Amino acid sequence: MTGMPQTNWAKSYGYHFRDCTVPSSLDEVRSVVAGSARIKALGSRHSFNPIADGEKALILDSLPLDPRLSDDRRSASIAGHATYGDLSRFLASHDLAVHNLASLPHISIAGAIATATHGSGSGHGNLATAVSALEFVAADGSIVKVRRGDPDFEGMVVHLGVLGIVTRVTLDVLPAFEITQTVYEGLTTRSLCDNLDAILDGGYSVSAFTTWRDDSAQIWVKDTPSIEPVPGTLHGATRATLKRHPILGMDPVNATDQFSVAGAWSDRLPHFKMGFTPSNGDEIQSEFHVPRRHGAAAILALAKIRDQLAPMVQVNEFRAVAADDLWMSPQYERDTLSLHFTWLPDEAGVKAAVHHVEEALAPFEPLPHWGKVFSPAPVGAHYAKLAQFEQLRRRLDPTGKFSNPWIEEIVFGRAAVT
Ligand SMILES: Cc1cc2nc3c(=O)[nH]c(=O)nc-3n(C[C@H](O)[C@H](O)[C@H](O)COP(=O)(O)OP(=O)(O)OC[C@H]3O[C@@H](n4cnc5c(N)ncnc54)[C@H](O)[C@@H]3O)c2cc1C
Repeated sequence: MTGMPQTNWAKSYGYHFRDCTVPSSLDEVRSVVAGSARIKALGSRHSFNPIADGEKALILDSLPLDPRLSDDRRSASIAGHATYGDLSRFLASHDLAVHNLASLPHISIAGAIATATHGSGSGHGNLATAVSALEFVAADGSIVKVRRGDPDFEGMVVHLGVLGIVTRVTLDVLPAFEITQTVYEGLTTRSLCDNLDAILDGGYSVSAFTTWRDDSAQIWVKDTPSIEPVPGTLHGATRATLKRHPILGMDPVNATDQFSVAGAWSDRLPHFKMGFTPSNGDEIQSEFHVPRRHGAAAILALAKIRDQLAPMVQVNEFRAVAADDLWMSPQYERDTLSLHFTWLPDEAGVKAAVHHVEEALAPFEPLPHWGKVFSPAPVGAHYAKLAQFEQLRRRLDPTGKFSNPWIEEIVFGRAAVT
């Protein structure tokens, strides 16, 4: 990336940066951070709200990725700005894997764990749960290294970009595995809700997609290969005979391979291929996490406002994410159903639709995705560990150098820092 960063990846949000720095060594990162009053690391710019905005942008892309494997082959470390695609290529060359991936592999690791980015799978935590150690540059330019088991580690992984500049992450890895991907279509909302647990538990990673324009959802089942024949129908849905894009009708050429053909974990867990234009691009996203036990009721509540949703939604995706112990994770001590919306790129229309969604989901303890669009409100207050997180932030960044007005309001519930 060169020049002043103007917008996020989707071009749906315009940054307010007045200065930009692209360090080429860790020492340079340390001195730039120590010498700046306000500074914000940018990852791959995939967030849809102001979380990454600021006065001075710090772009880490010129630092080496330097991927390394531990001697026991149970963890791998890499620069924080590496994407999951970079990591996957390195792991693949060693026959290793991470437990899960998001919908596309182009997202930076430091940015993904900042917002508790997740994939799907009843038994799988969000991507931050694989982090076993972190190295970051704190506000005074010092290097902080923490690993699982250290005090406050659980507060540092879903870091919201406010604790320091993440320069290195270490992740748990496991032997490489194969995944098959099978798409089913024609699932009714009634069947989705009646069979929600069976659907979400029916594979390694499962997504259900609907547009609300008809009563016909898709199920994408990503599973480890089995000798059992792949069923032709699933809860009333039929196995697709044509390759599909999550947004029905869009060209599926960039979607990962389907038809139950086994392939590498990294080529099937995301919905989109690494080497191609990801997703749609012309979009805005929102997502709300509700406790898994409320999942079916939450989907039915959305079905009731389908007339408001259908004109604005490109696709709605439902995924399962397992509980964790990370303080600022929406999955903190709760399994969730995560209800994702890819909207049309119409800011005013999205604002109204998000309001309808928030009203519909209000009875179900929803927490918004930290990196997507929701109505401004002090969300941090809903987190049991907010006070501890605030203390941690005060220790590592006493002046709020890594923060911005949006974060102060939404996370910490107070007027903007000046
Ligand atoms: C097409 C698309 C698909 C998506 N799919 C998914 C999905 O499947 N699941 C899901 O949960 N989310 C998904 N997202 C949302 C996305 O994963 C999150 O918004 C994520 O935080 C983006 O990471 P990023 O690297 O782009 O971070 P940015 O948007 O650049 O930054 C996010 C935050 O991280 C901080 N940050 C970034 N790098 C560093 C660093 N090195 N050190 C310190 N702080 C840093 C920033 O300051 C900011 O606070 C998707 C988004 C898009 C556009």
